[in-house]
Amino acid sequence: MRLILLGPPGAGKGTQAQRLVEKYSIPQLSTGDMLRAAVKAGTEVGQRAEAVMNAGKLVSDDIVNAIVSERIDEADCVNGFILDGYPRTLVQADAVEAMLKGKGIALDVVIELQVNDEVLVDRISGRYSCASCGTVYHDTSKKPAKDGVCDKCGSTEFKRRSDDQPDKVWTRLQAYYKETSPLIGYYYAKGLLKNVDGLQSIDDVAADIDRVLEKL
Ligand code: ADP
Ligand code: ZN
Repeated sequence: MRLILLGPPGAGKGTQAQRLVEKYSIPQLSTGDMLRAAVKAGTEVGQRAEAVMNAGKLVSDDIVNAIVSERIDEADCVNGFILDGYPRTLVQADAVEAMLKGKGIALDVVIELQVNDEVLVDRISGRYSCASCGTVYHDTSKKPAKDGVCDKCGSTEFKRRSDDQPDKVWTRLQAYYKETSPLIGYYYAKGLLKNVDGLQSIDDVAADIDRVLEKL
């Protein structure tokens, strides 16, 4: 199964992707995570990306396309993958299509998580994740079962993203509306788009996504 999760920052893409990874045994390809890993490792791509990311702006298409294309060639993607946070622009969407065609594969579905701005700011400013396994939590809506201990791996260290501060959130939302939201029309026209109400609880969103996937 090859799917894209589409929606503004904070919509719940990462949260739902982490669940789908377990359920379908396919990897989550988060360009944000891949880029942050490259920054941490200090690779050439990472250094180019770092300044742009810290300003809350989008990294250039050619950098991201190259990272994703290489990743899809890895063995764990043979049964499919979840693209989370990519493509982010129409240029990237065209690049994905050409890239997949070149590899002889195609997308099955694009799921749009629909939310509103007030919810996004709350979700993003309360977001944190496990420093060890990356599981996403929230100060109020998704706390670990035992305070300060990751449900999945037992780690007691957590981190917050530097671009999750309220002053950066608005820049990121504007980038989404300007650059990424046109993809909704793009995928609708290709007959690939399905909408899910992202304002529901995490479990209800998950159930709606499962219903979409069962019908494929
Ligand atoms: P995205 O990957 O789309 O940027 P995340 O999955 O990181 O969004 O979710 C943003 C924050 O909101 C996280 O802290 C997450 O725990 C929380 N969250 C995700 N989905 C929901 C939901 N349906 N209801 C309440 N909080 C949610
Ligand atoms: Zn963990």
